[in-house]
Amino acid sequence: VAARSSEATNSDTTQQVDVAVVGAGFAGLYLLHRLRKTGFTAVVIEEAGDVGGTWYWNRYPGARCDIQTIDYSYTFDPELESAWQWSEKYATQPEILRYLGFVADRYELRRDIRFGTKVTAAHWDEAAERWRLTTSNGADISCHYYIMATGCLSAPKPPEIDGVKDFKGEVYFTGRWPHEEVKLAGKRIAVIGTGSSGIQSIPLFAEQAAHLTVFQRTPNFALPAHNGPAPADRLALLQGDRAGYREQARWSLAGVPYPQQMAVSWQLSDAERRERFEQAWAAGDLVHILTQLWADQGVDVDGNALLADLIREKIREIVKDPETAEALTPRDHPFGAKRPCLDTNYYATFNRPNVTLVNLRQEPITSITASGITTDKRTFDVDMIVFATGFDAMTGAIKAVHPITGRDGKSLSDVWANGPQTYLGLTVSGFPNLFLVTGPGSPSVLSNMAVSIEQHVDWVVDRLASLREAGFTTIDATETAQAGWAQHMADCSTLTLHRLANTWYTGANVPGKAQGVMPYTGGVGPYRSICNEVVARGMLGFKLT
Ligand code: FAD
Repeated sequence: VAARSSEATNSDTTQQVDVAVVGAGFAGLYLLHRLRKTGFTAVVIEEAGDVGGTWYWNRYPGARCDIQTIDYSYTFDPELESAWQWSEKYATQPEILRYLGFVADRYELRRDIRFGTKVTAAHWDEAAERWRLTTSNGADISCHYYIMATGCLSAPKPPEIDGVKDFKGEVYFTGRWPHEEVKLAGKRIAVIGTGSSGIQSIPLFAEQAAHLTVFQRTPNFALPAHNGPAPADRLALLQGDRAGYREQARWSLAGVPYPQQMAVSWQLSDAERRERFEQAWAAGDLVHILTQLWADQGVDVDGNALLADLIREKIREIVKDPETAEALTPRDHPFGAKRPCLDTNYYATFNRPNVTLVNLRQEPITSITASGITTDKRTFDVDMIVFATGFDAMTGAIKAVHPITGRDGKSLSDVWANGPQTYLGLTVSGFPNLFLVTGPGSPSVLSNMAVSIEQHVDWVVDRLASLREAGFTTIDATETAQAGWAQHMADCSTLTLHRLANTWYTGANVPGKAQGVMPYTGGVGPYRSICNEVVARGMLGFKLT
């Protein structure tokens, strides 16, 4: 179907479209492409100055993906796949941003994206069967369908420490890193936070800083990246049967084409387990170590502990000072229950004479002053503070559009006061014609998100086309289906170890946030088959009018 372009924007008229998409990251770009191809008028609203989402905002030194780039790519167009070559196993942020810009150019997406514009509120008009979106800039939008592709990790968490405004030096957030070069050489730098962004950037700060002080609340497991060219064996599999390789990813547990591991830990001898582990450690593949060593590593505490102990041993081998090694060693959560990170010289950085680790479990920060950071034991004078403190994950960007008002004047933040409620992670009962891409209740952050995003986008756009064809104008999840999904979510997470960790998966990193495992833990393939079954059974759990 030929694409129809969206109607002209004018500051004093409302922009009328079939579909409004919020966000121009991986998800929003593919949405726009598919919506156009399916004959819907569409506009994308994006706060940033250009496309890229995560890869637009996270420009900190060392930012890269931790799923191998041959897997972390769009797969919807074989010609696109052959038109782009990744230079590394784990591409850097600039390369991934170039890729998303290349995609935007190839499908001429930018002409229907309103950059530098925030959606600030959304209201469902029952009589008109349309959403009205209020924007920070330019015309409001009236749309039949409203799709939030706002990202799971796009709302940075504000600092929890008093006094940031008093600090006279430079302050940066990894999730909002400036476009201009930040001069690091010879500076006294403090990094607060040792999640993925901290672990990626700390080695690069250390190389240039006069002194680097790392403030750590909770140690994370980090696995070696051994970056370089894409591994020959994976590349051969992909090139040998591209379609088959991609299809296997779609039905896999984590969105990367690995088979289900069948051997459980107690069927393997110590030597066999060590051999598997050493091979995986040398290969530098996060998903392999997360899912492929033995079948019970993610579901049984004892099977998990065998693996966690092997990683702890590696930390002790790398970090020379025993006290620092112990402080860097995670002991409060099963391996994989919190997202592990990829390490390029991370642990080894703590052997450098210009690096100090401050264990906030032993000496909490009491304040930030004009000259630096004070703990309850010491004061650190610094020139620069970098907050690598993470995100209000999965719900932060959705709730930041406030209010989102559905049927009967219900506000989404009230409905979600005790935690997010969704059907399939895609829809919320009482909010007709609203869709969430990789929302809470879908595999999202527990998967290769490129695969999860494509699955969501295809499912949503196919439904919109079917509704149009059948003459329906609204779709809403029933409360029963939503309650059933919550029960199924709870059942699945009882079988995994995710409930045993306090993490951003559960909301534990944000003070006052409702607690509960937010992503769907049943796996990418099983989730896809449920979504397909919902369709096959006449849109089970949805009310269409
Ligand atoms: P985003 O890329 O987050 O895009 C959402 C966009 O919506 C943003 O640009 C934001 O500005 C915009 N937006 C939000 N709210 C509004 C509003 N109200 N108005 C206007 N615009 C709005 N995933 C993986 O699978 N593999 C990886 O290796 C990986 N590495 C990552 C590394 C980092 C440093 C981070 C932060 C995340 C990583 N992720 C990874 C997760 C990553 O977020 C997803 O893979 C993917 O990029 C998400 O795409 P998206 O389009 O859903 O959301």
